Amino acid sequence: MSDRIPVQLIQTFEPAPAKIRARTTDNLIHTRSFSGLFRTLRMSGAGLLFLLFFGTVWLDWGGRQAVLWDLAESKFHIFGATFWPQDFILLSALLIIAAFGLFAITVFAGRVWCGYTCPQSSWTWIFMWCEKITEGDRNQRIKLQSAPWSLDKLLRRSAKHTLWLAISLLTGLTFVGYFTPIRPLAEELLTLQMAGVSLFWVLFFTGATYLNAGWLREAVCMHMCPYARFQSVMFDKDTLTISYDAARGEIRGPRKRDANPANLGLGDCIDCQMCVQVCPTGIDIRDGLQMECIGCAACIDACDSIMDKMGYARGLVKYTSERQLQGGKTHLLRPRLIGYTAVLLVMIGALVVALVERPMVSLDVSKDRGLFRENSQGLIENIYSLKIINKTQQRQDYQLSLVDGNDFVLQGKTRLSLAPGEIVDVPVSVAMLSERSRSGSQALTFKVADSDEPNIHSEAKSRFVAPMNR
Ligand code: SF4
Ligand code: SF4
Repeated sequence: MSDRIPVQLIQTFEPAPAKIRARTTDNLIHTRSFSGLFRTLRMSGAGLLFLLFFGTVWLDWGGRQAVLWDLAESKFHIFGATFWPQDFILLSALLIIAAFGLFAITVFAGRVWCGYTCPQSSWTWIFMWCEKITEGDRNQRIKLQSAPWSLDKLLRRSAKHTLWLAISLLTGLTFVGYFTPIRPLAEELLTLQMAGVSLFWVLFFTGATYLNAGWLREAVCMHMCPYARFQSVMFDKDTLTISYDAARGEIRGPRKRDANPANLGLGDCIDCQMCVQVCPTGIDIRDGLQMECIGCAACIDACDSIMDKMGYARGLVKYTSERQLQGGKTHLLRPRLIGYTAVLLVMIGALVVALVERPMVSLDVSKDRGLFRENSQGLIENIYSLKIINKTQQRQDYQLSLVDGNDFVLQGKTRLSLAPGEIVDVPVSVAMLSERSRSGSQALTFKVADSDEPNIHSEAKSRFVAPMNR
């Protein structure tokens, strides 16, 4: 454990009069706007997320909504493929793969997920942008906060909250639209006819978005998200994190642009506080790696712009590893990272195989509670109920049979035609022909196969029960 980076929990809520702090007396963090490479990357990540989230729900595929988790029918439709509850093991596998992917990326580059693609961060950025266009940049907002109520303040505040609520409502509607068809849902909302469960969930997610992205913001990352708590377990000395190069920056202090820091006994940090003012969690990256840091790289952009202005080399705050900061060389390929990546690749491969091999017809067998009976021909007979699901998007004709069932005869409706997605329960009986095998319980395998495409088939096992002595 000795090569892990200690992540500190530094309390940032205490007032610190000696410094300009990002968190102000109203307990809100007013970040300064800025531009730079990492901001562009982050906005691109958030833009892609918004496009996927708000756009996908409106796509149609094969006459129905392309992505829809139909709770009423327990089906998940995604671009022409339909998944039933029996397939949800695949969803579990997908979630495990996502968790391993997060572990691998965290070992490699720290909290890039939080900084660039996490919905909480992305929605918070868009809410901050709304704040900026309605109330102005950081200094104007701080001034507005302490100003007495006036018409201007009322209008600016109202505009901000109206925008926040509009985005929250759109988010709530879109989210619920993945579980109930979006078009009728949107129509109900626009005609004010939405009611019941739909209305409850749309309002619930509207409220959750407004609260999380508008008010709670970094508090969600710091106090509610478990990922922040266990990230330090995944970090090692070679993990790329956003760090301040103290050896280069200290002793920090103001100076004239043309002054030579060496002559003044200073490092490259001019103590301008810009890195603190742009930080969405209100921390000072110069205090070291902290649990509140979401890895957004805003402080890199801010500090690089200051370095440019001062004519110093960029990178006083940068992506680096603890090993590099101590004068060593970062080991990008290391056992833990290779292990996570290998497990990840194996799991992705297994999931792809499972998806490709997924039977497009499902068969479940349940045996009648009665053990056995003798039919009119004097044969021992068992009763079963077969549940068959056509998982394809076309009508299919199926044939029911028994695998290796020479000693048995299957009776009932053995030819079926099922519409796309149709589920049927078929009662059948199985009679035993052979006297030889007449004893106790024995294995029986049912099979359903497409009459035209034999590769679409499924099997299910059950037992046949006969008397021990007769
Ligand atoms: S310290 Fe830097 S990277 Fe971390 S949250 Fe603040 S601005 Fe983002
Ligand atoms: S932005 Fe750079 S120069 Fe300014 S205080 Fe932060 S680390 Fe120092």
